[in-house]
Amino acid sequence: MQSLKEISCDPVCGFMIRSHEEREVLDGAVKHVKHAHPDMKLTEKDIKTKMKTVK
Ligand SMILES: [Zn+2]
Repeated sequence: MQSLKEISCDPVCGFMIRSHEEREVLDGAVKHVKHAHPDMKLTEKDIKTKMKTVK
């Protein structure tokens, strides 16, 4: 079975996305940051460093 990937935003925000598809997690997180945190100016690369594998 494929491992589950997860990206969580800061605890204040509480946003979290999980999927077996790395692409889906990354796209979802990028969209979230654009909508909820336009001031953060995070690149896709920055966001990717936040990705964790859930066991
Ligand atoms: Zn957030």
